[in-house]
Amino acid sequence: MNNRIFLSFPHLGGHEMQYIEEAFKESWVVPLGPNVDLFEQRLGEYLGTNHVVALSAGTAAIHMGLVMLGVSKGDEVLCQSFTFSASANPVVYQGASPVFVDSEPDTWNMSPAALEEAIIDRHRITGRYPKAIVVVHLYGMPARMDEITAIADRYGIPVLEDAAEALGSEYRGRKCGTLGRYGALSFNGNKVITTSGGGAVICPTAESAARVKFLATQAREPMPYYFHKVIGYNYRLSNVSAGIGCGQMEVLPERVARRRAIHGLYANLFNDMLEIQVHDNPSADFDSNFWLTTILFDNSLGFTPEDLRQYLNEHNIESRWLWRPMNMQPVYADAPFYGDGTAERLFNSGLCLPSGSILTDEEIATVATAIKAFVKSKS
Ligand SMILES: *Cc1c(COP(=O)(O)O)cnc(C)c1O
Repeated sequence: MNNRIFLSFPHLGGHEMQYIEEAFKESWVVPLGPNVDLFEQRLGEYLGTNHVVALSAGTAAIHMGLVMLGVSKGDEVLCQSFTFSASANPVVYQGASPVFVDSEPDTWNMSPAALEEAIIDRHRITGRYPKAIVVVHLYGMPARMDEITAIADRYGIPVLEDAAEALGSEYRGRKCGTLGRYGALSFNGNKVITTSGGGAVICPTAESAARVKFLATQAREPMPYYFHKVIGYNYRLSNVSAGIGCGQMEVLPERVARRRAIHGLYANLFNDMLEIQVHDNPSADFDSNFWLTTILFDNSLGFTPEDLRQYLNEHNIESRWLWRPMNMQPVYADAPFYGDGTAERLFNSGLCLPSGSILTDEEIATVATAIKAFVKSKS
């Protein structure tokens, strides 16, 4: 397995152990501590906000965002259908119900038209407006935030950004994760940077950030004994994990640049192959971090994503299906869905390619050569 080319392998910067050793020297081997504060500060500087709270997972960040937006039992929450299940599951943790919204073909993210249709129809059916909108920047590509925000504002519904895949991405010169009322980031092992497992929520104010910190540390009231007035969570990041994050923040700009360069390499390598389209920024308003480079191909070529995935696997290359939309998941079979099947079509004719910043130019060329050989063998 030595020469296997992986999809998105962790890429350490070199100083992570220094922060961890510091934590051990000081016996800060606990949740919270100086590395957590420093990691939050560095994230805030990068994103241009003072209101970042580090948590144990991106899923926890989405959950905390929904709690802060007051999502509770009986509410409906509009959620992008084309995503990982962690965008939607926290809606159910709150006893609320997700309503799924299809994608549009340029960004692959939430369709503004389907969003407005869903808002109007849910109001017609239930007599209420949905409580929140969860929009995702899939594979790092920013969603059409101006259109989505305009619709959300028209109906007074707050937007939560799932920017788990989009750290470093920009929409009209503004960082993803700071464009909605709340934003969620993930530092899972396969994301742009890792803390081995972790996340962060970006809050609108100092007060809301303080409230998230309170809720995420068991909602313990400032009393000499344990005293609780609301339900809390154990969601803060450990000081050891945050040490990895502090080291990763030193190299974040380099990592984002490398993911973009890998996307550029693929785009060049597939330039002469009309059968393969590399998903690209639709206009200068969008600046994806290209967490993963993704491709689309014509279904009339006579192969499925699984055929190509297996061929690459046999050549020691890891690739992955696009996210299977939530409206195609058994667990959400009963949830309402608004759209025209765009995400389902993308799912059936695309693939995620190896895109980790650790990959060499030669490895990217190896992947492209293998895909070209496969496509030629089919024509
Ligand atoms: C990774 C991911 C999450 C969840 O983050 P975790 O840190 O794994 O909990 C949520 N949404 C999307 C779109 C993701 O890719």
